[in-house]
Amino acid sequence: MNPDDRALYEEVILEHNRNPRNYPKNPRGATHHAHGFNPLCNDEITVHLKIADDAIRDIGFEGSGCAICMASASLMTEAVAGKSVAETEALIDKTHRMLAENGPSEGLGKLRVLEGVHAFPMRVKCATLPWHTLRAALRGGTETVSTEAETPSCPQPAGQ
Ligand code: ZN
Repeated sequence: MNPDDRALYEEVILEHNRNPRNYPKNPRGATHHAHGFNPLCNDEITVHLKIADDAIRDIGFEGSGCAICMASASLMTEAVAGKSVAETEALIDKTHRMLAENGPSEGLGKLRVLEGVHAFPMRVKCATLPWHTLRAALRGGTETVSTEAETPSCPQPAGQ
């Protein structure tokens, strides 16, 4: 990435952090929700979706996080609003590959401003948290998604 692009991308990230889109927002008639937590940075957000006819009709999020987390969540809400569930699942996969594995960013549109995050390993989980949380919401999960744990199979010991 050339320095001019990098400066522009940083400006977009900072602007989304200052003025997050669809935040704080829990759309009227929301049907799907999930809560995500990144203990490495104390990023904590809740994603709300209104799904009808197999498409995302409305989306919002609440919570707080660092600039990268807030910008990623803000950009995410813009990117998936109106998309079908299948299109959204594909976008989650592609964005995750770009962020975590430095995968190709073609076709990701505005989300490409997050491409540089890959160079900062401590920040990757800040950027992926909203996307993990979105996936959990799509799948109707009610457990908290953590960037530091695999799906807990037994979060509450029986009898307690
Ligand atoms: Zn963070």
